[in-house]
Amino acid sequence: MHEVSICQSIINAVEEEFPEQLENIREVHLKVGLLSCVQPEFLQQVYKMMTADNELQRSVLSFERTEIKAECESCRQNFKVENYVFVCPVCNIPSNNITEGNELIIDKIILEEFTYEEVNQ
Ligand SMILES: [Zn+2]
Repeated sequence: MHEVSICQSIINAVEEEFPEQLENIREVHLKVGLLSCVQPEFLQQVYKMMTADNELQRSVLSFERTEIKAECESCRQNFKVENYVFVCPVCNIPSNNITEGNELIIDKIILEEFTYEEVNQ
């Protein structure tokens, strides 16, 4: 299961970044390229399972899909790929030189904000 190992590396990265604040994490937000071979919905379920009984149990995994971009090998134009048509809009030649769309990155991590009471303690 591909998603389990991906999820484990996400959790590892979060633990490394916020070792003292894991319980305060509410949301881990990912950017998932349209071409990455990951099913984010499935990743969310795996994350829920894997964090069910640890410090991250109050956090959720969220994501947004990012669009595909490619660079033309002829004119170096960076263009947005729509409907999976990998053709340069300037010179009309096909390009497989993908610059964005394969990524799976942790975009942001949202921590619980301190409540009024906590601030005044
Ligand atoms: Zn071109």
